[in-house]
Amino acid sequence: MAVPFRRTSKTRKRLRRTHFKLQVPGMVECPNCGESKLAHRVCKACGSYKGKDVLSK
Ligand SMILES: [Zn+2]
Repeated sequence: MAVPFRRTSKTRKRLRRTHFKLQVPGMVECPNCGESKLAHRVCKACGSYKGKDVLSK
């Protein structure tokens, strides 16, 4: 297995990590109940997706 020749400096490490950022998940408003929900996912509040009630209890 290949082993790094040099230790990665603090600056190099930090420079590399400037590309990592927290990604905000795409939130949209539910057309059924108006609650904010994740895009392309079933609404947690009312259990609807694409105008249909998917999670019914
Ligand atoms: Zn909803």
